[in-house]
Amino acid sequence: MRAIVLGSGAGGGFPQWNCGCVNCRAVREGRPGFLARTQDSVALVGESGVVLVNCSPDVLVQIARTRALWPQTARGTPIAGIVLTNGDLDHVLGLFSLRESQPLAVYATASVWRGLEQSVFVRTLRRFEGQLEAHELVMDETVSIAGFSITPFPLAGKRPVHLPGEPEVGDNVGLRVRGRKTLVYAAACARVRPLPCDVLLFDGTFYREDELVRAGLGEARAADMAHVPIEVSVEAASLQATRRIYTHINNSNPILDPESAERRAVIRAGWEIAFDGMEIEL
Ligand SMILES: [Zn+2]
Repeated sequence: MRAIVLGSGAGGGFPQWNCGCVNCRAVREGRPGFLARTQDSVALVGESGVVLVNCSPDVLVQIARTRALWPQTARGTPIAGIVLTNGDLDHVLGLFSLRESQPLAVYATASVWRGLEQSVFVRTLRRFEGQLEAHELVMDETVSIAGFSITPFPLAGKRPVHLPGEPEVGDNVGLRVRGRKTLVYAAACARVRPLPCDVLLFDGTFYREDELVRAGLGEARAADMAHVPIEVSVEAASLQATRRIYTHINNSNPILDPESAERRAVIRAGWEIAFDGMEIEL
C-alpha cells in the first residue's frame, strides 16, 4: 500500500497562469531545482483499487502520468472512491472532468455535499441512475475503501466563497488513513494541533503570515485564508510525526526556491517537501 502525491501545489498550481512572481518566472524559465506543481491531490493505492483524496482541476493530467490510475479494462477505472476534504474549487473542480458515463463513489461531509448540490455541474455526474454514488462522511466515523480505513476529523478551516451559507464544522476535515502505517492528511489547516501518525502531509501553503502582502500579490494574510504558515508549524512540538511532509504549496512560497534560506530551515527542522509523483510507503 502506498500514497502518491498527485499534486503538491495550492490552488492555481505552480506556475499559476496569471502570476509573474519571482518563483513563477523561475519555474517557467526552467531554472534548476524549480519544479512545476499541479494542484493538491493524493492517490492512496490499496490492494483493491485507488482512493483519490480530493479531485483537482488537474486530475486528467494527474491520471495520465500515474500508472496506478490507468484503466485496466475497455472502459473502467481503478479509482474505488473519491474523498473530498472540503469544497474548495481546487479540490472539487476535477470531478466534473470525470464524467464520461463513469460511475463514481464520492465521499464528503453533509456541509460539502450541500454546497456541491447547488452546483449545476453536479447534473453532469447524474446522467443515469447510479452514476454518482454519494456517501456522507461523518466526523470520527471510519469508512473502508480499497483496503484503507479512513477517518475524517474536524480541522479549523474556512468555508469557500463560492459555497453559500453559514460556516459549519464539516466545511474542512483532515483524514486519518490506516494502511499498514498511519497517514494523516491535513493540507488545509488554520491552527497547529497534535496529529500523531507515521506520515503527516501538512499545510505548506505559505511560509509567512504576510507573504502575499509583502510580495505585492494580494491583500490576504495566511490567517484570512485559514492556513497556518510554515514559520509557525515548522518548529511546532505537537507535530512530531515520524515523517513530516509539507504539501499544498502556494506559488508565492520561498521554499519553492532550492537556494532559499527558508528551504534550508524547513529541511534542517526535519521536514520533507512534497513534489508531484512523490511515493510514500504505507
Ligand atoms: Zn507566482
